[in-house]
Amino acid sequence: SDKSLIVSFGEMLIDFVPTVSGVSLAEAPGFLKAPGGAPANVAIAVSRLGGKASFVGKLGDDEFGHMLADILKQNGVSGDGILFDQGARTALAFVTLRADGEREFMFYRNPSADMLLTPEELNLDLIRSLSSTMLVYPQRLHLDLFDASVDMVDGRESEAKVFHYGSISLIVEPCRSTHLKAMEVAKESGALLSYDPNLRLPLWPSADEARKQILSIWDKADIIKVSDVELEFLTGSNKIDDETAMKLWRPNLTLLLITLGEKGSMYYTKYFHGSVDAFHVNTVDTTGAGDSFVGALLCKIVEDPTILENESKLREVLKFANACGAITTTKKGAIPALPTEAEVLALING
Ligand code: ADP
Repeated sequence: SDKSLIVSFGEMLIDFVPTVSGVSLAEAPGFLKAPGGAPANVAIAVSRLGGKASFVGKLGDDEFGHMLADILKQNGVSGDGILFDQGARTALAFVTLRADGEREFMFYRNPSADMLLTPEELNLDLIRSLSSTMLVYPQRLHLDLFDASVDMVDGRESEAKVFHYGSISLIVEPCRSTHLKAMEVAKESGALLSYDPNLRLPLWPSADEARKQILSIWDKADIIKVSDVELEFLTGSNKIDDETAMKLWRPNLTLLLITLGEKGSMYYTKYFHGSVDAFHVNTVDTTGAGDSFVGALLCKIVEDPTILENESKLREVLKFANACGAITTTKKGAIPALPTEAEVLALING
């Protein structure tokens, strides 16, 4: 099949990263141009690992927009879902690297092209094609596995499709409605919905508004990944434990993941929960670690959705995803640091 199994919806932009840490934007001696945007990073992470991914989003019809579209293409991501806005410019982010290693962002979004994708412009065929081969809701998995009428894909018995979202433009129209429409069509088509809030607090009018909006689309997702910072923000509790995590649990969720940087990741399903340790690596830049983790996880779910019901399989997959995240921190920038499967296996097998 030449159809993408993972469609990632949202923005792609350019991060301008100062060449030195601990200075203000105005004092930076220079900047590196780093392509980014979490949803685009996820699509490229999938592709680098050998999966089939599409990116759906809007870019400016300008030098930066075409550069980003080329990067997607060079990385094997299908560009059938890319649109160019004739008026607005490509989104830009200016990063401040604080002395403590944390990053702050200032965005050019005035508005930028990504915010202007309308529901009418969505490539619905692309999103609907997520259902073209078959299934899958994991709740139905047992039934379908034994249903002779189920299509066989590449000789395998089951295969999931995933729609991944988490645009920073969730807040603004028309992108907000487009987000909701794409989610709805993907869900109707039988895809699993994967959500990463990618919280960038300064973009929201208020913290309350951010919390409200993020949680309002929470219930629609099958798979959710949050960082420790997002866990604290959404629950109001700074204790990272089961009790706090359960505040984010919803009956329709299949998998909730909390990533903890060098402390690894935690997982919750209806059936089991636990944590998987991180790998020790030489970290130079953590940008994109979470996107790399998500890309790896989605790749594995698409190959074998039964990992969602089998704890030992899931733990293997999270070890793989943790390794992907770890490798991504060993090089500057997100996209250049996203690993191939061979690199991941090399780290896992020491
Ligand atoms: P996010 O980028 O969304 O904040 P994390 O920083 O938690 O996400 O990274 C995702 C995963 O990548 C972590 O669960 C972990 O396995 C791995 N990772 C991130 N930072 C490091 C690090 N410094 N050392 C080793 N692994 C890391």
